Amino acid sequence: MNETLFSFINKLEKEHTLSLSEYEFLITHRTKDAADLLAKYADNARREIYGNTVYIRGLIEISNICKNDCFYCGIRKSNHGVERYRLTEDDILACCRDGYQLGFRTFVLQGGEDGYFTDERLCSLIAQIKKEYPDCAVTLSLGERTYESYKQLFDAGADRYLLRHETADNAHYEKLHPKELSFINRMQCLADLKKIGYQTGCGFMVGSPYQTAAHLAKDLKFIETFQPQMCGIGPFIPQSGTPFKDKESGTLELTCYLLSIIRLIKPDILLPATTALGTIHPKGREMGILSGANVVMPNLSPAGVRKKYALYDNKISDGAESAQCVTELSKHIASIGYQIVVDRGDIKFKK
Ligand code: SAH
Repeated sequence: MNETLFSFINKLEKEHTLSLSEYEFLITHRTKDAADLLAKYADNARREIYGNTVYIRGLIEISNICKNDCFYCGIRKSNHGVERYRLTEDDILACCRDGYQLGFRTFVLQGGEDGYFTDERLCSLIAQIKKEYPDCAVTLSLGERTYESYKQLFDAGADRYLLRHETADNAHYEKLHPKELSFINRMQCLADLKKIGYQTGCGFMVGSPYQTAAHLAKDLKFIETFQPQMCGIGPFIPQSGTPFKDKESGTLELTCYLLSIIRLIKPDILLPATTALGTIHPKGREMGILSGANVVMPNLSPAGVRKKYALYDNKISDGAESAQCVTELSKHIASIGYQIVVDRGDIKFKK
């Protein structure tokens, strides 16, 4: 292997930090050997903290109604090809009931930015879930809200919040979003969430349109400095009905490579092998786990709405993807040497 590449990988493994230009070099000069070495180091780092356990989260897609118009996203408001839905409180509680029986101890409420879900409605919903399932964690992924709103939801019992930063480069952010959305606000939201006390998750799409290795280096540097408890990355996948419908997908190879790097930047991070990764390759999620991921998020949404939450084309929603098939998923994961556990799956600190 190229000596410089080798030295950067070893430095990352020992020091958990690289300069921007070193991250960029790691990406532009990557080879199969480098990927294998990074994956080996990442796996060791994860095993030291989490052993061979993989945490599961039940993903409930509560609404595909959204006021935003992100260029990449299938549920953007200008996509008139989507049949819109919104789950009721009873629907959501029924999903939690199913999920609890299936062994889920974290429920992730994700959705578009749907004005129906006011602080009042969400607080009441969160409080009910926490009352019925005090041993479970509630994660929210509902986009940008005010500090006061995030605080109220946290006080109502929400434990975690996922808000991908999407890209750590301002100019790139503007190429992915309409002018109403700002990079500064996105970053402010993330800072607010962390300050309030949420276990906070950032993240980005791999291979999003116009993304360069320099942008990815900035994403990695951001993760290194922000120190999120969670990080969601998955390949960009074009969705019909969006301005990016003809763009190319991100790759499994680069996503896995970045998963290993992120694990080494922050060994205790909760790192999902995402649905998008499972969508671009039948073994995508297993490969993500082998590269350092330690979380999977099967779909707990009611079967009737799953196809409507189409962020990107051909999103998988049944088979081992569905929460109802968690036994099958456990077998897949066991076959590669890892174990799905019934656990809230909070971040663990290095002993
Ligand atoms: N409205 C919430 C949830 C968004 S959906 C929010 O703003 O956070 C969750 C994630 O799906 C997004 O953050 C984005 O990174 C990802 N996503 C959206 N469209 C995608 C696409 N076409 N391909 C891959 N991932 C996509």
